[in-house]
Amino acid sequence: MNLEMICGKTGYIDTGYGLVAVYRSSDSEVILFDSGDEHADEIILLFDSLDLKIRAIVCTHLHYDHTANNNILYDRYKPEIFLYGHDFANFKMRTSPHYPYNIIDPTSDLVIDGISFKIIPTPGHTPDHLAFVTPDDVCCIGDALISQPLLSESKLPYIEDVEQAILTMEEIRRMKYPHFLVCHKGVVLSKDMPSLIDDNIKKELELYDVIQNQITAPTLIEDAVVEFMRQRKISESRIQQSYTMRNTVRARILTLAEAGEFKIEGEYIVPFK
Ligand SMILES: [Zn+2]
Repeated sequence: MNLEMICGKTGYIDTGYGLVAVYRSSDSEVILFDSGDEHADEIILLFDSLDLKIRAIVCTHLHYDHTANNNILYDRYKPEIFLYGHDFANFKMRTSPHYPYNIIDPTSDLVIDGISFKIIPTPGHTPDHLAFVTPDDVCCIGDALISQPLLSESKLPYIEDVEQAILTMEEIRRMKYPHFLVCHKGVVLSKDMPSLIDDNIKKELELYDVIQNQITAPTLIEDAVVEFMRQRKISESRIQQSYTMRNTVRARILTLAEAGEFKIEGEYIVPFK
């Protein structure tokens, strides 16, 4: 594991499944944006070798793969931890946080040791998802987008509210930051953002086509969810066990219904023709 610099004092480490943004807040300290869910020991080894301590951890959202290392890193460095979200019950159940944390106020900049990080609400992936901009104008957009080639390989990107996610993507399209750090996974230059956003939106529209072609008669929503996941070749065990994955499919079906493509009658989804 290495600390790769993007520009100025902003860089990242690659924890395997995702990227963790790193801001060098002083000669001896760093601020992390998210902490990853594995390789905490390697993170500690890396920062020890660089004589750096973790001053703070700021989370873009409460998903396990962005917060799970908080416990181990807290034990080692006692950083301040900043979180935001309404889904604290699920977060606590999955990550058992044993550290104190500060709730972020998304209406103003986050200031740590006099350093300001702009906060941009970026709902869709989760309702409370936040992006942060470092003083080097690197925009850490968390999971608001997926970069290639991961996007093409993904059977089912996790999104809780597709309409909102696409509005967020269009908002990101208007941002003029030179660098965007996408957790899964890469540093994307401003000039490459429009095509990446197009790819992310296209993926969603393809998934909508799958749902529309699939539902030709009144169907129990739960059956439609399972059938859709089978068509996307998601394993039976994941279909059965992953409540969050089923939820993301359900969200897509309901978005299509809200857009007037289907009717919802009780627990059934009903095509118009
Ligand atoms: Zn996430």
